Amino acid sequence: MSAGETGIAARLAAVRAQIAQAAFAADRKADDVRLVAVAKTHGIAEIAEALACGQTDFGENRVQEAQAKYPTLRAAGHLLSLSLIGPLQTNKVKEAIALFDEIQTLDRPKLAAALAAEIARTGKAPRLWIQVNTGAEPQKAGILPDAADAFIAACRTQHGLAIAGLMCIPPADEPPAPHFALLAAIAARNGLHLLSMGMSSDYATAIALGATHVRIGSAIFGARAVPPV
Ligand SMILES: *Cc1c(COP(=O)(O)O)cnc(C)c1O
Repeated sequence: MSAGETGIAARLAAVRAQIAQAAFAADRKADDVRLVAVAKTHGIAEIAEALACGQTDFGENRVQEAQAKYPTLRAAGHLLSLSLIGPLQTNKVKEAIALFDEIQTLDRPKLAAALAAEIARTGKAPRLWIQVNTGAEPQKAGILPDAADAFIAACRTQHGLAIAGLMCIPPADEPPAPHFALLAAIAARNGLHLLSMGMSSDYATAIALGATHVRIGSAIFGARAVPPV
């Protein structure tokens, strides 16, 4: 496929423009919002195309899928930052710490303990975010909002982890704004400054409510052929 055919460059430019516009409308600077390009189900060629457009931050849901793509890109000399935005099993912590610069889905004590042990063993400390299940959906990962303050405190004091921010995925069938506002409130009262919220359909709303990181997939790479499981 020749340059331009996939539309990634044009879509990426459009997303960047909309981020700048949403930031401006919220009296914020465009530079205060980082764009994490979510490349799950998309291949190395498409990621390379985004890299060629100056995109450096990427997000993936699955450790194994990421292992199949990013070591190759890094070996080719690409400088990129990789965020895990999908659930992490404790038996994948070693691989996750080796590969990811950020882990956005810390959500339970057992995982905090496993991350702390691997960070101590390797000396490699990815930036950690706690995922909050703002909609209290039974099928969704994330600490429940009522338990978030205590969990953040336990991560810090009991496990010695530096927590950088909070992440949420609002329920698909509800207006996202109350969920973004709840996440921002939990962050503020716990002294956390980073907020990962907003996806292709709602990132302008998330930016209005303080998102510092938006995770955008389909608006950049197009529709996913395989639905994420
Ligand atoms: C897939 C995914 C995204 C991106 O979703 P789009 O709607 O394609 O922008 C963002 N965050 C998480 C956690 C995801 O799994």
